[in-house]
Amino acid sequence: MTIETEESIVLRGSPNRSSALMWCPGCRRQVEMVTPEQAAQIAGVSTRTIYLWLESGAVHFVEDREHLLICVSAISLHKEKRMRRSSEPDTVE
Ligand SMILES: [Zn+2]
Repeated sequence: MTIETEESIVLRGSPNRSSALMWCPGCRRQVEMVTPEQAAQIAGVSTRTIYLWLESGAVHFVEDREHLLICVSAISLHKEKRMRRSSEPDTVE
């Protein structure tokens, strides 16, 4: 009878989602931080657009040893702004 042990190894959590709670200097609080790739998915844009936003200071981000992590709340705000100005093309410049 090994059914009980097998059941205890059921998959937990979602491996695709590796966001982290970190301090955001822009929000001045702990927020969810994601990679540029995840940020692009959330905002529905390309990663290149995400990097454009970073350069223009449109979104908050922090850098750890080798990764850029982007503030999710800033992305959502920015996304809403873009949706309101729907007359503009999706890719800037
Ligand atoms: Zn932020």
